[in-house]
Amino acid sequence: MSGNNIVWHSHSVDQRTRAKQKSQLPLVIWFTGLSASGKSTIADALEQILTHQGYHTYLLDGDNVRHGLCKDLKFSDQDRQENIRRVGEVAKLMADAGLITLAAFISPFRADRRLVRNMLPEGQFIEVFVDAPLTVCRERDPKGLYAKADRGEIKQFTGIDSPYEEPESPELHIHAGEATVTDAVNQLLAYLHETGVLHAGYEPIAV
Ligand code: ADP
Repeated sequence: MSGNNIVWHSHSVDQRTRAKQKSQLPLVIWFTGLSASGKSTIADALEQILTHQGYHTYLLDGDNVRHGLCKDLKFSDQDRQENIRRVGEVAKLMADAGLITLAAFISPFRADRRLVRNMLPEGQFIEVFVDAPLTVCRERDPKGLYAKADRGEIKQFTGIDSPYEEPESPELHIHAGEATVTDAVNQLLAYLHETGVLHAGYEPIAV
């Protein structure tokens, strides 16, 4: 980057120091799936449990970043790519700050998810496929978006007139059509426990 006189500064307080201070292993838990598959709901429920157990977290949510950081972007393939690139950079900063970062984004393209994975240190990107069939997502439709897309009021809607590329080898595959939110959170907690992220063990939740 010296060509444009921008030089990377290495600071004395690094990710390791910040993570140690928080007594946790930072990482990015990346939820991908169709609209209304349950990404935000599951991420929100997981964040509540982790916070309750004393972990330091941050949840980046697709709709929320489009109010600010990405409000200039629409839903063309190019804008979706830029949306995920920006969010990936933010998630990377959050993980660098030592946080367990949760990101809930449709993120329909494999290449964009791979880009984010490659931004992060090895092992710090957990891809979670929130897999609910389109028919189930249509029925849930909490924001009425499928209905709008059907009426032609929203163009380039994922699953309708814009593609969704399923993950080929996600770290976790949640069958969110059949699994309850509690099941999904327990699946995540078990995975995080197995991989050593949850240092103090965990209690499966029961709702
Ligand atoms: P997304 O973030 O993927 O667009 P949301 O989490 O906003 O999806 O919406 C999913 C909707 O489906 C919510 O209203 C949620 O309460 C409901 N829902 C019903 N069953 C489940 C389940 N098993 N997992 C996740 N969400 C579910």
